[in-house]
Formats: sequence, structure tokens, C-alpha cells
Amino acid sequence: MIRASSIPLINRALTTQERIAIIDRRGVHSYGDVINQSIEIAQHLLRDTADLAEARVAFMTSPGIDYVAAQWGIWLAGGIAVPLCLSHPLLEIEYVINNAGIKFIVAHPEFEEKLSPLIEAYNLILIHSNPEDNIPEVPLPEIEVNRNAMILFTSGTTCKPKGVVTTHKNISAQITSLVKSWEIVEDDRILHALPLHHIHGIINALYCPLWAGARCEMMTRFNADAIWERFVKSDLTLFMAVPTIYVKLIASWERAGRVEKETMSSACSKMRLMISGSAALPVNILEKWKSICGHTLLERYGMTEIGMALSNPLHGERKPGYVGTPLPGVELQLVDDNGEIITEEMKEGEIQVKGDNVFQEYWDNAQSTRDAFHRGWFRTGDIAVIKNGFYRILGRSSIDIIKSAGYKISALEIEEVLRSHPEIDECAVVGINDEKWGERICAAIVTRDNCVLTLDNLRQWARERIAKYKIPSRLKIVPHLPQNVMAKVTKPEVKKLF
Ligand code: AMP
Repeated sequence: MIRASSIPLINRALTTQERIAIIDRRGVHSYGDVINQSIEIAQHLLRDTADLAEARVAFMTSPGIDYVAAQWGIWLAGGIAVPLCLSHPLLEIEYVINNAGIKFIVAHPEFEEKLSPLIEAYNLILIHSNPEDNIPEVPLPEIEVNRNAMILFTSGTTCKPKGVVTTHKNISAQITSLVKSWEIVEDDRILHALPLHHIHGIINALYCPLWAGARCEMMTRFNADAIWERFVKSDLTLFMAVPTIYVKLIASWERAGRVEKETMSSACSKMRLMISGSAALPVNILEKWKSICGHTLLERYGMTEIGMALSNPLHGERKPGYVGTPLPGVELQLVDDNGEIITEEMKEGEIQVKGDNVFQEYWDNAQSTRDAFHRGWFRTGDIAVIKNGFYRILGRSSIDIIKSAGYKISALEIEEVLRSHPEIDECAVVGINDEKWGERICAAIVTRDNCVLTLDNLRQWARERIAKYKIPSRLKIVPHLPQNVMAKVTKPEVKKLF
């Protein structure tokens, strides 16, 4: 056992060892249990060396103590943790193994068969996430907070995934900003239902509660009905999800009977805080959720490279369609196309971010790293406007800002309007190159209950709601929209539909 650690998150856990940290399919685990299992993994990783010295170690486990112990074990041994996505096909996992130059892999035996072709092909050293054999103890290396700690691969909605490298200091800054802003305390109990290879599931929903000494109950896989069953027990205080999860929870609530609905709503209303992020929260979903359980979802904005940057307030008005104000410790500026800082309200510009929360570099990709920063500011590529101090996201400059007929048009704004059409269930708007218009506005639409929607009808309906130049001129009805594992629409795939 260790008494103190220079890794801030682990050092916090050492002060709450008796408390319950994680509840998973295997049972109930204290902070002490997590630390003991982490140390065992670290010992196995250090069999042939005194310090992994930033060697990249991939890991694959189910959500639960094994996940945290694997990641902390890698950190204690001096390595960089690279979480693998459980649902990715082998080719995508291979991309990560290859790109990050992985030498070791920590995995639960249940994934050994899936991973074995890669273990063989890349000569990886495999360590089990719950090692059974005892080996002689070796001292753990000293870890500096500026040491690289994690590589997360971007979700690749607009280009090939890039490895985002963060240090222990970056991770601590990302966590403490949220713990402070959302007042996460040791009495909190969160239900965790997010993927664990992405910033949202790792930093926000797992490590913020663990930083505070709170309890994290981890679902093995996402299931809307099972989430409601858990909500009904009425002992949770926190929940965080992407908009699609709220959509699925609403559908599940709607399937329930009258009495059941009342029980579900009443239990859910007792929670302290419910948060949405990682993609724009449609206003109709925010309103529906409020009507179900009284919660105005707190929407926040962030990305893999910076953790979270903007959040609606815990106390005070949460503005639908807005992502709030800068989080503690995060500096933001909006910059126009000429590189000038925008000071006026409602003028659109790119969000640029500075602070200890910002990542170090893209792994093995010096050019992308150089391109991503300007005078020390990270260029998010997201376009926003500010109104009364609150930021509103208009979308990613590369794909959601459509240049048509001399206008710059936000695809997100059009999508928000289209979603209020009674026959539209889901939609994605993209710009397609066009000689006459620059780009043409094209909408891919999933209709409700097989409704028949024509372009003429849609355009007529839209005329009363948005400016003429924003109305889609091409329409494609699809059975579903292309999505990645974070349930985010992949717009390059949408473009291919046209
Ligand atoms: P990721 O790195 O996968 O978390 O994706 C980050 C991107 O998701 C950001 O750059 C934004 O484009 C988008 N995003 C995250 N949160 C929001 C939000 N609340 N509203 C709109 N877009 C968001």
C-alpha cells in the first residue's frame, strides 16, 4: 500500500479509502479496493523495468473497478493510458494500437479472444486487469504532474481519429473546474452509462465523482429501461448523458403505463442535477425532459482536447439553446475570420481556449498540433455567438457552417427548426458544393411513423419559420442517420448521401 501519490486523482482516493467508490456487476468496491488493484496491475507492468517512462499502454475492460484500476495502475507504473472502445471493430482498435505505438495491453480475460490477433501481430505484452499471481513487490516510480497520462482518440466525426495527449495536470484541471462549478461532493451518487474511451464518460461522469469521494454506479452497457429501473430506486443524485440518451429515456418513459410514469417522474425529480453535452441538445428534448421530471437539463460544451469549457449555471437560469459561460480556470475568446477578437454580441467567431485544461499535442502529429494552436490559444474549430454573456454554438466551422449564396449559415440552427416539424423525427443538415450557390443546403431526414414528406411541402412549411436562403433545397428521407459510437451524427457520411 502507498501513503501518498503525486498523481492528484489517486492522492485524493488515498484519503477516502473506506468509502464506497464503485458499484459494478462484480459488486461494491471501496476506494481502498481500487487502489490495491491498481497497485497490483502496476507491479505486473513493472516486472522488467523501474518506470514505464511514458510507454503507451492500451486497456480494455468492462465498466467498473477493473477499468479504473487498469488506468490508475498504468499511471502508477509511469505509463500513458490509452482506453480502447469496447464496441469498436478490430480494424479501428488496430488503428489505435498502431498509431499510439502500443507495447502493453491490460485487459479482462473476457476480451482476450477478441484482442488475440492484435496481441500476436503487434507482439503486445498482455496483463490481466485482475492479476491473480503474486509477484515480488517493486517500488513505484515518482510521477511528475507534467508527465503525459492519457491518449484519447477523437471521435473522428470530421476526419481520421487523432490521439489527444493530456498530462496529469491537464486531467486534474479538467476535473477540478467541473467539481467546483457543479458542486460535486462526497454524498453524490451517480449512475454511469457512458462509453469509457471518451472524455465525457471518463472525466465528467467517472473522475469528477471519484475526485469528490462520491459513489459511481457503473452500468455494463447502455439500456434505457434499466436506467429507469435504477432511477426509480430514488437514491441517485447525479446523471450525465448525451442528448441521444435523453431521447431514448423519453421513448422508454412514453412506453410506460400511467401509474408507472408517475413513479418514474417522481423518482427522477428527486435527483440533484442532470447534465447534457457532447452534442447540441435540441430545445424540444430539453422541454420534454422538463415536462417529464421537472429538471431543466444543464447543458455544457467541451471537447476531447480541452475537457469542458462552457457550462450553464448550477444555480440560476439555464438558457435553452445556449451552453452557458466559461468554466473556472478556462479562458475563452471568440475570433473572427481576420483573426480579430470579437467584442460585440451576436457576432459569430471561432471559440479559442487557453488554460491548464488544454491538451499537450496530437500524438505523433506535429503538423496537426501546430495547426491547432495560434499564439498559445487552442483553436476549437467551433463557431459560436455570445448573447448576454451566454455562448450559443453554431457548429463546427469545417462542416456545420454552410456558405451559400454569400451567407454563412449554421446547420445546427436549421436542424433546430426542422425538428419542430410534426413529421420529422431526426435530421442532419449539410452543405454540398454547388457551382451556382457555393454550397447547397441539403437535409437528411428520418420521418416519424413512415410519414411521407416531400421537398415542396417541407419548403412551404419552412418559409414561415426561417429565412429563404436557409431553407434546404435538397431532401433525402433515410431510415436512420449515420452515427458513431457516441451516438453523434457523422456528417461526412451524411454528405455522401447527396
Ligand atoms: P468530442 O471531442 O467528441 O467530445 O466532440 C467535441 C465536439 O462536440 C465539439 O467540438 C462540438 O462541436 C461538439 N459539442 C460538444 N458539446 C456541445 C454542445 N453542448 N452543443 C453543441 N456542440 C457540442
